[in-house]
Amino acid sequence: MFCLTATDLLRIWETGETKSQVERALTILAAACPDRSFEQLLDLSLGQRDRLLLLVRQWLFGPELKAFAECPRCGQRLEFGLGIPAICGTTSSETTSGEQTLSAAGFDLQFRLPRSRDLLSVAVGTDPQQVRRLLAECCLQDIRRDGQTASVDELPEVLLQQLAALVVECDPLQEILLDMTCPACDHRWRPLLDIGQFLWEEVAAYARRLLREVHTLARAYGWREDAVLALSARRRQAYLEMVGA
Ligand SMILES: [Zn+2]
Repeated sequence: MFCLTATDLLRIWETGETKSQVERALTILAAACPDRSFEQLLDLSLGQRDRLLLLVRQWLFGPELKAFAECPRCGQRLEFGLGIPAICGTTSSETTSGEQTLSAAGFDLQFRLPRSRDLLSVAVGTDPQQVRRLLAECCLQDIRRDGQTASVDELPEVLLQQLAALVVECDPLQEILLDMTCPACDHRWRPLLDIGQFLWEEVAAYARRLLREVHTLARAYGWREDAVLALSARRRQAYLEMVGA
């Protein structure tokens, strides 16, 4: 299903280094899923994209995510493991596809779920309220107030928040919240797991390690980069041990 070589991983890192988080996730998926066109990847809902990223991560580095969080109350650092099958193996994590509706505060809304394509058109880094409004503009297909066509600008902030919550309900994996309890002070909170960023950091760390390995073996044996990358990880490791790295 997936297909990524050491050379691909280096290329992903090289290409994605200067890109936004949205583009980095797409770069990883485009390389890992050659059977899907870039257009198809752009049209996945954010939850479908994150499910695919989780599966790529499982295939690449295994099913257990090792993460850490800092207690927002006392600063205690917590390390924890998280199983990918537990995150995306339940039916409650599945995306409800098709057009959705919401009727509240005198408005009747028809909307579709946000996609990577929408995120690319929304400036990242703007404040969350602004992002919510811009995403709503992309995804709302019909807005009516008392039966009359209305515009996004007329929607009250509270309704946009309700819409955002419903979008997450329809596409749960686009917002993976963790249940954390601090062992030091008993504080409970729900940090967000951003699988795109998480996987990107792992890919970047792996790429840097590969470069160090190429450097060591090229210097010891005079091999070219492509020859070192063509070795299996096990063979590379065996040679590295022989040169005392
Ligand atoms: Zn604490």
